[in-house]
Amino acid sequence: MQWLGYILKCPICGFKYNLDHTQVIESEHSEVYGEAKILIHSDCSKCKSSVMFNIEIHGPEVFSVGMITDLTSEDSARFKNKQPIGVNEVIGIHKTLKGFKGDFVRVLRKKA
Ligand SMILES: [Zn+2]
Repeated sequence: MQWLGYILKCPICGFKYNLDHTQVIESEHSEVYGEAKILIHSDCSKCKSSVMFNIEIHGPEVFSVGMITDLTSEDSARFKNKQPIGVNEVIGIHKTLKGFKGDFVRVLRKKA
């Protein structure tokens, strides 16, 4: 699961998540198609935001979408001026992951 910490960062303050505050809520794997779907919940230890990440893996392609959950009023006010993870960020993650030579689905299955 180390690679998750590598790609997941807070969409609000940009702080890299500590994996101790990250949990996999749900994961599905399809060996036939080399696909996996993972739902992750993270608490940012810096700005205290709770974020859900929906990660989809299709062979070498990895897509990650973050959604803020459990907003406090303070957080909503702060978040109003911020964009959720956008296309550029997803492309950035994708580029980062191109350097990863392993098989994501296999890595995940080992831990599941
Ligand atoms: Zn944060």
